[in-house]
Amino acid sequence: NEAVRLESLYKTYDGGVTALDGVTATFAAGSFTAVMGPSGSGKSTLLHCAAGLDRPTGGRVFIGGTELTATTDTAMTKFRRDRVGFVFQDYNLLPSLTVEQNVLLPQRLAGRRADRRRSQDVLTRLGLGDRLHELPDRLSGGQRQRVAIARALVAEPAVVFADEPTGALDLRSAGEVLTLLRAAVHEHGRTVVMVTHDPVAAAYADSVLFLADGRLAGALSAPTAEAVAE
Ligand code: ADP
Ligand code: ADP
Repeated sequence: NEAVRLESLYKTYDGGVTALDGVTATFAAGSFTAVMGPSGSGKSTLLHCAAGLDRPTGGRVFIGGTELTATTDTAMTKFRRDRVGFVFQDYNLLPSLTVEQNVLLPQRLAGRRADRRRSQDVLTRLGLGDRLHELPDRLSGGQRQRVAIARALVAEPAVVFADEPTGALDLRSAGEVLTLLRAAVHEHGRTVVMVTHDPVAAAYADSVLFLADGRLAGALSAPTAEAVAE
């Protein structure tokens, strides 16, 4: 029942920086994990390698039994499109596309029929049912991030990776976004792995992994913001 399994991950960038120095970790199916650690400790690198956006220098990555590190780039891209959702700090919405078009874009890129009803369903549930035809720059940060979450969820991915999803949001919008990610786990059985530096955000997760200098430096289950901040 492992959604994501990282085995002895190493990543050394051109230039010689070792960003991951032997990380082994399991993210159980249906769990919500926060990854924390100081700036430069390897959090983004871990997320990118786990999600198949980048390749580790050594070690293996499994998602739902498929070894991503053993596939070709083409197969990895296809796997990502079919099985994985992403949420980024800066939303990554295309400014010239409407809310609905942004949400449908991954399906279009994957060569699938765009399921407008489903996309509208998800957007409505996320409180954006009346903004379908708006351009992103007409929306608040919190609304933009909800569009990004709708885009990540519309293909019903098994795993959602989120990189500082609340980093650019005010407290209230951050709370809404975190509540949606929790619901994706606890109501829809998805697996969410979220990088954050915010103890309040981390407390929405079921457990926290701490990185330091590219290594696992600790873990906490049932985190509270106070315990995480220590
Ligand atoms: P974090 O997300 O915890 O801030 P990162 O994974 O971004 O950490 O970075 C870990 C280390 O790898 C840092 O020393 C960073 O400077 C370095 N690094 C990250 N990306 C690259 C890159 N594309 N090329 C070279 N070094 C990088
Ligand atoms: P199901 O797919 O289990 O029948 P729903 O009909 O309630 O669930 O929602 C359809 C899809 O919309 C879900 O599978 C999920 O991808 C997405 N979704 C809707 N609301 C949320 C939410 N609050 N958090 C995460 N995903 C959601």
